[in-house]
Amino acid sequence: MAAQDAGATAPLLQVQGVTLQYKTDEYVVTATQRVDFDVYPSERYVLLGPSGCGKSTLLKAIGGYLTPSEGSIRLKGREVREPGPDRMMVFQEFDQLLPWKTVQQNVTFALTASKRLSAAEARDRAAYYIEKVGLKDFADSYPHMLSGGMKQRVAIARGMAMEPDVLLMDEPYAALDALTRRRMQEELLRLWEDTRFTVLFVTHSIEEAIRIGTRILLLSPHPGQVKAELNSVPPELLGTAAQAELETRINDMLFVH
Ligand code: ADP
Ligand code: MG
Repeated sequence: MAAQDAGATAPLLQVQGVTLQYKTDEYVVTATQRVDFDVYPSERYVLLGPSGCGKSTLLKAIGGYLTPSEGSIRLKGREVREPGPDRMMVFQEFDQLLPWKTVQQNVTFALTASKRLSAAEARDRAAYYIEKVGLKDFADSYPHMLSGGMKQRVAIARGMAMEPDVLLMDEPYAALDALTRRRMQEELLRLWEDTRFTVLFVTHSIEEAIRIGTRILLLSPHPGQVKAELNSVPPELLGTAAQAELETRINDMLFVH
């Protein structure tokens, strides 16, 4: 396994010493503690850890929805302070789409709103990404006419159409049945082969982390701290002993304190 070639390129995203807390008058919940990691262009970087370890909170902070109480988050060298079209988020929930808009309109909407594309440019760009996720025939359908997997495809097309610096995906397949989930994972890898976008992918599934990731950041249980950073196995080695070994290794690291 090749180590990350850190010398060649600057990191796209730098997370340094990031502590994230939820504060009210009555309590302080520390979600993550001094988390460090860098994501390089075209990486498929996975945050892996048990439920409650702060994965979603980290993604929200990178999205600009939450300010670190300690540390910094930089995208292309600039500190993240607010949400922006350079970071698009795809969630687990199936209700991320506007129900009164068609598939095409859902994807176009964000483009005209924040990318200042003309109506025609937005329509063309939307059509391109809708086709990429295999939904060309459903462009004029409304969300309620689609399966959960199809709705996730639309959310992914919408995120990709914005051509963000990094696509943030928060357990996007966790609510899907096992077969659909597998199909969606393979599709994401195919899309990545096409466009080499940078993706930061959150999951609590070891198997999914290995399948999706080029690198994996292992987080400890609440509050989330970095346990390790690992290279995943390349797609051609999935299903071989290399995958099984890595799964065992990660399992051991997650359960040994
Ligand atoms: P994960 O996505 O890894 O399951 P989360 O980031 O959702 O974890 O949550 C991390 C911790 O922060 C958990 O202990 C959770 O209970 C807490 N938490 C999440 N959201 C809030 C909130 N809005 N207010 C207070 N605590 C929260
Ligand atoms: Mg979560």
